Amino acid sequence: MRKDSFKILKKAINNSQNISIITHWSPDGDAIGSSLALYQFLKYLDKNVKVIIPNAFPDFLEWMPGSKQILNFQEEGKKCENWLNKSDLIFTLDFNSYKRIEKLGDVLLKTSAPKVMIDHHQQPDDYAKYYFHDVNACSTCELIFELICGLGAKKTIDKKIAACIYTGLMTDTGSFRYPSVKSNTHTIIAELLKTGIIPSEIHGAVYDNYSLDRLKLLGYALSEKMKIIDGYPVAYFCLSNKELKQFNFQKGDTEGLVNYPFAIKGIKVCALFNESENYVKISFRSKDKIDVNAFARKYFSGGGHINAAGGKSDLSLNETEINFIKHVKTLF
Ligand code: 5GP
Ligand code: MN
Repeated sequence: MRKDSFKILKKAINNSQNISIITHWSPDGDAIGSSLALYQFLKYLDKNVKVIIPNAFPDFLEWMPGSKQILNFQEEGKKCENWLNKSDLIFTLDFNSYKRIEKLGDVLLKTSAPKVMIDHHQQPDDYAKYYFHDVNACSTCELIFELICGLGAKKTIDKKIAACIYTGLMTDTGSFRYPSVKSNTHTIIAELLKTGIIPSEIHGAVYDNYSLDRLKLLGYALSEKMKIIDGYPVAYFCLSNKELKQFNFQKGDTEGLVNYPFAIKGIKVCALFNESENYVKISFRSKDKIDVNAFARKYFSGGGHINAAGGKSDLSLNETEINFIKHVKTLF
């Protein structure tokens, strides 16, 4: 845990007028939720603020308040770069290594503004001036709630900010079921509900909006592609680029798929390998003390949390699978 005091953070915010908020590659509900919650909050403080993302976010987050104002570095690179160079303060949310923002990291390296890391992933890098980092937080959204309250501004948490924070809490905890959920998580939710947000609407907006192709891809993956390693409590999927295209794959379409094999009694580790044009994107999930963060860091240039991590492979899909089968056995 590495947390600067609210007094120090307040001073950093008060001394800044132009502020950037950056979140990680392939932003998820917690990345967009925390960024937009902080965005609204800083707007209320009359700051000039922009959220910059390295690449597009999935359609099921488009409903979120403020999402239309987000700048995508892949589409508006120059504008993002200009804004970052003009910024007095740069928040980096839900990641802790420049590797997680791909080419946007090269731009960030050249900026002089102090960085504030707000994050809950393991093993943070050292690039920031200010830290609000806690691996025990269930989500970055939990930290944003704590930060706003700690700055004495709980009253600014209106329906818009609450909806954003709720989304990150919900998506990063698998709808409040992972071990990261504590009594405090529910205390925060209780506070958020007082603003008038309707949880069932948020669940519906995020989870009940699959395209027919997405649901068929899920069915195909479960019935045709799931493999269990003989003698080990490990299940995984390998989806080739061709297969993904067959189902008109869109960003976010395989989100959540990696968790399904946990429904099988005894399964302790799940993995998903998605082949793209340039590399294989990997997701790992585990139960109990099995550390997939360390595993992803050691073998697949990745990282994340103990029970949920990701990585990459530059090898072919088939070679990546062979590698995985070899290395995953070392976990048992
Ligand atoms: P997901 O499997 O949902 O993409 O990611 C699971 C967790 O691991 C998330 O918290 C995510 O931020 C992290 N993660 C995913 N991919 C990578 C990666 O390539 N590198 C690192 N360091 N973390 C990752
Ligand atoms: Mn997160």
